[in-house]
Amino acid sequence: MKVCNHCLKEKDENEFNWRYKALGVRNKTCKDCQPVFNKIYYEGDAKKKHLKQVKERTAVAREAAREHVYEYLLHHPSELCGEADPRVLEFHHVSEKDMAIINKYTSHKNWMAFLKLACVDILLQRIFG
Ligand SMILES: [Zn+2]
Repeated sequence: MKVCNHCLKEKDENEFNWRYKALGVRNKTCKDCQPVFNKIYYEGDAKKKHLKQVKERTAVAREAAREHVYEYLLHHPSELCGEADPRVLEFHHVSEKDMAIINKYTSHKNWMAFLKLACVDILLQRIFG
């Protein structure tokens, strides 16, 4: 049994939607209260505040990723041409492109196993011959 943080009623675990199913964690708000909570939260000032927070967190995460990749580039010259200047290095796929490079970065801890570095000149030669 679990107590809803909105109606404060004690309910069965199944009366709460999954928050992180893989971790076995359910929402703190019951299924009856969740739609009411969502309607209040996502309309009006709460929605504006939420969207502002999302935008701020995204900007922080994007900057952290940019710094992380730049730091990586500083210490990993291109294996193809030896170029070490991070300003002219680009990532390219080791094998068939199955997703965008940014998605490789965000979805795989071992993201560099799927990508190689090359300077812009090498990539342009490969594309245009
Ligand atoms: Zn409730």
